Amino acid sequence: SLRAGIVGLPNVGKSTLFNAVVENGKAQAANFPFCTIEPNVGIVAVPDARLDVLSKLSKSQRVVPASMEFVDIAGLVKGASQGEGLGNKFLSHIREVDAILQVVRCFEDNDIVHVNGKIDPKSDIDVVNLELILSDLDQIEKRMEKIKKGKTKDSQSKLKDEAERLALEKIHNMLMDGKPARSAYLTDFEKDSIRQLCLLTMKPIIFVANVAESDVSDLSSNPYVREVLRLASELQSGLVTISAQVESELIELPMEERTEYLKSLGVSESGLGNLIRETYDLLGLRTYFTSGEKETKAWTILAGMTAPQAAGVIHSDFEKGFIRAETVSYDDFVAAGSLTAAREKGLLRSEGKEYVVQEGDVMLFRFNV
Ligand code: GDP
Repeated sequence: SLRAGIVGLPNVGKSTLFNAVVENGKAQAANFPFCTIEPNVGIVAVPDARLDVLSKLSKSQRVVPASMEFVDIAGLVKGASQGEGLGNKFLSHIREVDAILQVVRCFEDNDIVHVNGKIDPKSDIDVVNLELILSDLDQIEKRMEKIKKGKTKDSQSKLKDEAERLALEKIHNMLMDGKPARSAYLTDFEKDSIRQLCLLTMKPIIFVANVAESDVSDLSSNPYVREVLRLASELQSGLVTISAQVESELIELPMEERTEYLKSLGVSESGLGNLIRETYDLLGLRTYFTSGEKETKAWTILAGMTAPQAAGVIHSDFEKGFIRAETVSYDDFVAAGSLTAAREKGLLRSEGKEYVVQEGDVMLFRFNV
């Protein structure tokens, strides 16, 4: 499953947010088969209102949402790329995630020390950005050196080497300019050529602006949030605003008291769902469904996957033995009321190997075993 790593300077609210995410996941585990695999990894369900609709129509016995992993990656300090603090270990953890969530402190609290003495989102973001850039620069320069000496073992052709050299150069220029690798304009071929480097600043990043409880109802009044918003667009990053404090208090409350508490703060829903959805979208993920009496389940695929590839997410045998897929869009399914009704109305299509699965497709695979 996909992994998002929570990073940020000390005392910005990472653990508070992570614990809320994990506890929230545990609460859902009563219904869903979820668990915590490692102490710093939590599994969360991706909220999706369509699941309830489909499961009611199909009279499903259970509902299984798509899931994602959140990893708490502590230990980022200034100088991490030079081996300060947990330095290199920290960076190697980031290398393994699919997306980065950087918590940025936007709440004031005199009792909680800020590492730089004052709340300053720009400086916080710059520190993290710089460490990631320095680490990438180091990697790129080593790789450029190897190519120059003709020491690239894995080079299959001159063409590929040339694409990689070009990509490295473009990214190097970006990084020297203080900009992330993801802002470099690369062709698909160039992108492929540098994929194995797993550059940190190539990964999608979301700034998670952590605000005070008093600010959740009126975000525009928080000048720190405005600053983070500006930086998010400058650095091609996403932005989600949340109060880690509110989330951690919410999960302590019994279900029936949560709505009341949110209302008292002037908001209608918790921010966790939003954070999870944003991360899911940022990764370019799509959802398709299977829906029957046994269960209604959401499956995660990458945009552009074909029907056999999507079937392979369920089981590799489904991909190997793929014959065809019976498919109906979510809207058509709901309009018809059931798979049978959709078939009678001619809304159920029979699709072959080339079909590119669309967001919200409800699918039934036919395959040889
Ligand atoms: P980490 O070092 O980034 O993991 O930060 P922690 O999650 O341990 O939080 C540091 C301190 O800030 C803790 O005492 C938290 O209770 C507090 N904290 C976290 N989020 C908020 C918030 O939104 N508002 C306030 N007032 N305090 C918070």
